[in-house]
Amino acid sequence: MEWDNDPTFQMAQRQFDEVSEVMNLDKNVAIRLREPDRAILISVPVRMEDGRVEVFDAYRVQHNDTRGPYKGGIRYAHDVTLGEVAALSMWMTWKCALMNLPLGGGKGGIRIEPTKYTRLELQRLTRRYTSELVAFIGPQMDIPAPDMGTNPQIMAWIMDTYSQLKGYAVPGVVTGKPTTIGGSLGRVEATGRGVAYTVLEAAKHLNYTIGADTKVAIQGFGNVGSHAALKFSKVGAKITHISDHTGGLVNLKGFNVQDVIEYMTKNNGTLKGYTEGDVISQTEVLTAKADILIPAATSSQIDDKIAAKLQCRIIGEGANGPTTIEGDRVLKEREKEIFVVPDVLANAGGVTVSYFEWVQGLQNFFWSAKEVNRELSNVMIKAFNEVLEVKKQHNVYMRTAAQILGIDRVAKAMLARGLYP
Ligand code: GLU
Repeated sequence: MEWDNDPTFQMAQRQFDEVSEVMNLDKNVAIRLREPDRAILISVPVRMEDGRVEVFDAYRVQHNDTRGPYKGGIRYAHDVTLGEVAALSMWMTWKCALMNLPLGGGKGGIRIEPTKYTRLELQRLTRRYTSELVAFIGPQMDIPAPDMGTNPQIMAWIMDTYSQLKGYAVPGVVTGKPTTIGGSLGRVEATGRGVAYTVLEAAKHLNYTIGADTKVAIQGFGNVGSHAALKFSKVGAKITHISDHTGGLVNLKGFNVQDVIEYMTKNNGTLKGYTEGDVISQTEVLTAKADILIPAATSSQIDDKIAAKLQCRIIGEGANGPTTIEGDRVLKEREKEIFVVPDVLANAGGVTVSYFEWVQGLQNFFWSAKEVNRELSNVMIKAFNEVLEVKKQHNVYMRTAAQILGIDRVAKAMLARGLYP
């Protein structure tokens, strides 16, 4: 297929091949899961505010829907590729199964640098993309959500466009919507919070007490990184190293997270110019002498060289695929020193609250923020301990254990349903 030469897709597929070997996966199931079910490729024309038309490459890849509708975010990024979206759709399948959600895996992407376009242009782009996808998405078919470069407003435009074309309101077509149109309380914070919940559980497992001496380094202070930081500071840890695409900062006394967030909101969303810390490089944030490291930026950040230099005790992967295959080999060798909570587990809080949003919408009955957070915490802690159990049973690395658990649930569902015709 078209995605076979893409490095991110190769990484996802190689991970899958290795894990299916370890778990002795049925060959007829493995051959079906190595490739996504379907991909939709779209050229999206948009009229700019100055009258010109620009055309953007856009994708939606549907990896597997054996356990329920395809589920996964839509990414707006200048360098997104079909292969990257295909890899991310595969990871969504494992993630949803691992969390035991009745959902499959999908992902979308549009090749655009969203910060360079106006609100009206982004609205037109989103609406045209949605109209092209109308036959392929829906509350029982494929349910998009936010990812890098997208947000609740973009979900609202998707919901509105889809609803206009159907002739009635269909809130269940997306999750991560504003709460005014059926979004769930706690969805915006969910991914970051979930990262913190799983890391706290990992600390418990390691008999490590998180307190005022605990230093946390956060690479990528966006929606995921900042909400994880808020939760860590709430439980008494210090956020000592932070970064975004403009660079890194260190403050060994600990940053005031709320103040950083407010600064960024006023400063075009970037950390640049923030004076409450000393400037360091983005790599120095990753390799900092901190107890907990949260890579919450983009994929392929921790390669073998960086992995060899890491000084943390626990990694909670907030981003999708932040560690390269080579980097992961090094982390596997360093397993006794560094405990990894892999992406499909650590960042699954987002899709878990998306699931809660979908359920609340189907029932037209909405939960309090307290109920959402309590259920999220329960689901994350349960999944963490199930992965730990698989790790002990098979004597494998955490990432392998998480994938075994997810893949095994999908495989069992496929074997039960059989192959049509
Ligand atoms: N984009 C998020 C992820 O990678 C959330 C997906 C969703 O809520 O469907 O898990």
